[in-house]
Amino acid sequence: MLAAQAIDRCRNTQGVAVKPATTELPVVVIGAGPAGLAAAANLVDRGITPLVLEAGTAAGATVRDWSHVRLFSTWGEVVDPAAEKLLAPTGWTRPDPATYPSGGDWAERYLQPLADVLGDRVRLGATVTGVSRAGRDRIVDADRETQPFVVHVAYADGAEERIFARAVIDASGTWTTPSPAGGSGLPALGEKAAADRITYRVPDLKDPAVRAR
Ligand SMILES: Cc1cc2nc3c(=O)[nH]c(=O)nc-3n(C[C@H](O)[C@H](O)[C@H](O)COP(=O)(O)OP(=O)(O)OC[C@H]3O[C@@H](n4cnc5c(N)ncnc54)[C@H](O)[C@@H]3O)c2cc1C
Repeated sequence: MLAAQAIDRCRNTQGVAVKPATTELPVVVIGAGPAGLAAAANLVDRGITPLVLEAGTAAGATVRDWSHVRLFSTWGEVVDPAAEKLLAPTGWTRPDPATYPSGGDWAERYLQPLADVLGDRVRLGATVTGVSRAGRDRIVDADRETQPFVVHVAYADGAEERIFARAVIDASGTWTTPSPAGGSGLPALGEKAAADRITYRVPDLKDPAVRAR
């Protein structure tokens, strides 16, 4: 069953959300990075419907932020076997397994084709803002484990949605929540005050504007 059909079943004819049988629901995957897309491919391989929700405008959104950096892993290490199986019928072939892709290569030559083959099982511009259990909150918690997950989504156009899921895989990565420069997981002395002069990313020093800064 397509994820969209499973989600439609979460609403009755008046458009009111109802609770469907959990096994009919998709597994929601948060993030269309290498881990999220590989998870989706493995779910498809097992006959389970995934629904990948990606905050960015393209597959591998955060990998594209460091597209100028070459990986320390080879192509042979960064292509998931279930993903390769899914891509094979499209005529896709893995680049030379002994060579090293850049972040841009990884996104363009593997992650984007994989998202394309997953089709409407990947939604872009969809930021997950929370995950809870249907009908359960801080006060009502009985039978939590038997209730479907409710995934709260904010879309790029301002719309919001609640999606029921049988399970949720968090593959949102760490790029947007970098560690502080200080040791012990805490900011170094003066780090917050100097925040406007610190980048936690991998600046592209070939870019004149970045270099000037
Ligand atoms: C410069 C650099 C070089 C690296 N080189 C290697 C290497 O050679 N080999 C290696 O194995 N690893 C390498 N890594 C680590 C690399 O980042 C990870 O292997 C890989 O990107 C992790 O994939 P991921 O899917 O877990 O996370 P990410 O690639 O960070 O993907 C997470 C995705 O989730 C999306 N997302 C985040 N929050 C939300 C939300 N709330 N709702 C919806 N979507 C959301 C993001 O937009 C993103 O697309 C490198 C990292 C860096 C920075």
